[in-house]
Amino acid sequence: MKSGDKVRLKTNHGVVEPPIFRVLIPDSGMQLFVITNSISVRAPTNRPGFTIHRDFDRLCPIFTIVEDNYKHKGMRRKLLETLRQKGIQDEAVLQALWDVPRHWFLDRAFEELAYEDKAFPIDKDQSISQPYTVARMTELLDVKKHQKVLEIGTGSGYQAAILHQLGARVFTVERQRVLYQKSKAFLKELGYSRIRCFYKDGMTGLDTYAPFDRIIVTAAAETVPQPLLDQLAPGGILVVPVGSDVQEMLRIIRVDETTFKNEVFGQYRFVPFLGGLDAG
Ligand code: SAH
Repeated sequence: MKSGDKVRLKTNHGVVEPPIFRVLIPDSGMQLFVITNSISVRAPTNRPGFTIHRDFDRLCPIFTIVEDNYKHKGMRRKLLETLRQKGIQDEAVLQALWDVPRHWFLDRAFEELAYEDKAFPIDKDQSISQPYTVARMTELLDVKKHQKVLEIGTGSGYQAAILHQLGARVFTVERQRVLYQKSKAFLKELGYSRIRCFYKDGMTGLDTYAPFDRIIVTAAAETVPQPLLDQLAPGGILVVPVGSDVQEMLRIIRVDETTFKNEVFGQYRFVPFLGGLDAG
């Protein structure tokens, strides 16, 4: 089988309108797109020995099937309306939230909750931030295409995907090994393979790739770690929630080598920014 090959697919869902399903084959770099009742194969190379099961249901346990159907899109449209009402104005940010289906980043059982404007628990007692918070922080970050952006706290990978969708070159670090491994693999499967994931303590930033045009911290910092300020390029922007119980959203602009300008934008609640790695 090679790139562009078409195969007939028998499905229990009858004739479906394109593009209903994207079938992702872990670690192969291949994606199958279901188009009406056939699937077309996009593959970088031939994969001898690779066979496709014609029975769609038998595909399910083998491959990750991510679906973005009219129900999801309807819920997402409503969420975007809510975000507009709450004051999100940046059209590029809203478009990115439209383009990245949030329900892919939550357990399948919680699909419906993915489009409520709420934070949601993920593995290891962490959480995927509330959509409003993701939108607001991204707006404050003012990301431009091709900029180098560092995210501290990969978590589910959702915020990283939003930054990637805005055209940024994304570097994201996570201190929880389980989350790092899971999100790294999942982002690759979803096709966000240019997002660079690191298992690292974000307190020290990511000096080998510094300086960064933008830095976003998605956990609550008691104080702003000096390495993050050092790794910000002149003209760069750092967005970080600072405080213990409740945090203030701080935007720091590095005006030049030695001058930093701080602004505060409302109160939020994040999981704590912790030092050291967690291999559990
Ligand atoms: N951006 C994430 C939200 C994750 S919650 C998303 O879109 O889903 C915050 C994350 O920050 C958690 O996964 C937590 O493990 C991580 N974190 C906390 N302290 C950290 C540190 N010092 N270095 C790297 N990641 C850290």
